Amino acid sequence: MKIHGSCMCGFLTFEAEADPEKVSICHCTDCQSSTGSAFRTNVPVPGNTFKMLSGTPTIYIKTTADSGNPRAQAFCPRCGSPIYSTTSGDGPKASYVVRVGVLRERGELAPKRQNWMRSARPWVTEIGALNRNEKGAT
Ligand SMILES: [Zn+2]
Ligand SMILES: [Zn+2]
Repeated sequence: MKIHGSCMCGFLTFEAEADPEKVSICHCTDCQSSTGSAFRTNVPVPGNTFKMLSGTPTIYIKTTADSGNPRAQAFCPRCGSPIYSTTSGDGPKASYVVRVGVLRERGELAPKRQNWMRSARPWVTEIGALNRNEKGAT
């Protein structure tokens, strides 16, 4: 399916083609620290379908703690939203791993699997039992 992405401030926009069956959650420690949250939701897209429509992301090269491979982490230089990761270096990319939270279609992209469970916060599978507010904290 066609997907449309935008960072929080709207400086970066992109589009790509994603397979909804490939959406996953990553609980690795790099995803926790780079999102400031408990996990990240990702979908890989073929490199030849990924197109930046506006803005140029800032790239941070991180040798990932869990796999040992250098990854280019792309985020907005203005608002800081993470938008994708890909292989480091120049030239065409085989794929981009897009952050589902920046996609207009995120409501249709429910995760199908969870990876790096060994790094997951122990409470993360229990959040259904927490008190719920329809809006912010009251
Ligand atoms: Zn932005
Ligand atoms: Zn991860």
